[in-house]
Amino acid sequence: MSTRTDPPLLQVRGLTKHFPVRGGVFLRTVGHVHAVDDVSFDLDTGETIGLVGESGCGKSTVGKTLLRLYDPTAGRVFFEGRDIATMSRNELRQLRRDIQIIFQDPFESLNARHTVGKILEEPFLIHGLGTSVERRRRVDELLERVGLDAGAANRFPHEFSGGQRQRIGIARAIALKPRLIVCDEAVSALDVSIQSQIINLLLELQREMRLALIFIAHDLAVVKHVSDRIAVMYLGEVVETADATDIYESPRHPYTKALISAIPVPDPTAQRDRIVLVGDVPSPIDPPRGCRFHTRCRHARDDCRERKPALTAAGDRATVACHHWQDLS
Ligand code: SF4
Repeated sequence: MSTRTDPPLLQVRGLTKHFPVRGGVFLRTVGHVHAVDDVSFDLDTGETIGLVGESGCGKSTVGKTLLRLYDPTAGRVFFEGRDIATMSRNELRQLRRDIQIIFQDPFESLNARHTVGKILEEPFLIHGLGTSVERRRRVDELLERVGLDAGAANRFPHEFSGGQRQRIGIARAIALKPRLIVCDEAVSALDVSIQSQIINLLLELQREMRLALIFIAHDLAVVKHVSDRIAVMYLGEVVETADATDIYESPRHPYTKALISAIPVPDPTAQRDRIVLVGDVPSPIDPPRGCRFHTRCRHARDDCRERKPALTAAGDRATVACHHWQDLS
């Protein structure tokens, strides 16, 4: 559950990230990929926000920009009230301890030539923490905490299954006792049974460490179980935010409704009308004018093609970017 702090642990305001597209003999900039446009949200200590949407909607770029793995094109990010763009070197060093990321494929982010012990010791070495004996003890504690035996320290990443590698990724992420972890499709590549084990581990750690989580996934069924709040993204923009239960019970935006209609219902006698989205997601290099969803929205009207809907309040703690959501509810 969320624990309100003042200010919020994380404030994202108008975050925008465009990547240049280069072409021609001289590789001049010929356009921009509008990966993220004007994204805003708050996150409190101990709270989880789920970022969901189809592949390419910009949700992973949001996560990486928060960690300053990408510099934002526009917008501001405040961590504990401080603007991360104006942080000193020392403050940025602390930020890199406070915010960690877990990737979809930990194999790619774990150095294949290093033992797991060395991989887990690295964060302490980088930040100059502890003696070698203390670091070794911390590695053993981390392994135990994520459900791996101490012998794992002497083995290499390729000797582990996908689920075990993700446990190693989690151990590395919590090594420096962060305040916030970005889980970037962290369970998407795992079997369903392993998924739930990893999710349960993350939730336990969240309770123990009062961690805030940004849970990025394309699978709404997964996000539903972990999130306090959900932000739905489409083509680089947030189209709806609400508390997790609210958004599943009463989605407002036509895109959210379509995504939720695609979630399998556990009760075979229950009926749910599937809303099939026709057409592909348009190119983020040249997104549609007006409402970006209008090319696939079955409710689109003339004004949707001309006027961009702003993200506006739509009830208790909810926002939606649709001109006609009230008529459609
Ligand atoms: Fe559909 Fe129009 Fe709403 Fe966009 S603004 S989601 S096109 S009804």
